[in-house]
Amino acid sequence: DDKNNENVNELLHDVMTLLRTQANLYDIDLVLEAERDCLVLCDRSQIKQVFINLIKNAIEEMTDGGMIHVLVELREKECMIAIKDQGPGIPKHLIHKLKEPFFTTKKNGTGLGLMISNQIIDNHHGRLEIESEKGHGSTFKIFLPTDEK
Ligand code: ADP
Ligand code: MG
Repeated sequence: DDKNNENVNELLHDVMTLLRTQANLYDIDLVLEAERDCLVLCDRSQIKQVFINLIKNAIEEMTDGGMIHVLVELREKECMIAIKDQGPGIPKHLIHKLKEPFFTTKKNGTGLGLMISNQIIDNHHGRLEIESEKGHGSTFKIFLPTDEK
């Protein structure tokens, strides 16, 4: 266990800088919208891995380009990070399967990214919510407890 107080906006900024090159190849804009700093007690590299997994998934769905919108909101006692894409969306009856190991719709997918992400978020006493309808894009919302002492 290696948890420190980290600024979520800074972690997102790092990850998005890393992924922007790949996104731009597919005509995808990565946009970060954050009003205030969010401090979270977390394992920096694990939470970065979660952001990478979710943003990569979004990129992989957006074969026609568009925008991936990452929104950070400081709420009461928690930080909400929403990753919103303009991909094909997920049929309602499949949403509950996404966190299961080995569920993938990709030719070379492992189906492990969301399972691992969910596990990491669990270890941080947070939760991962998935909202989507087929044809309307998807939003993955991460909730993490904020540091309050
Ligand atoms: P992988 O990326 O290896 O397939 P993941 O666990 O990351 O494994 O994702 C599992 C499945 O969830 C994907 O194959 C895809 O069907 C679905 N999925 C994940 N993210 C999205 C998204 N943003 N839009 C639509 N479907 C998604
Ligand atoms: Mg994945």
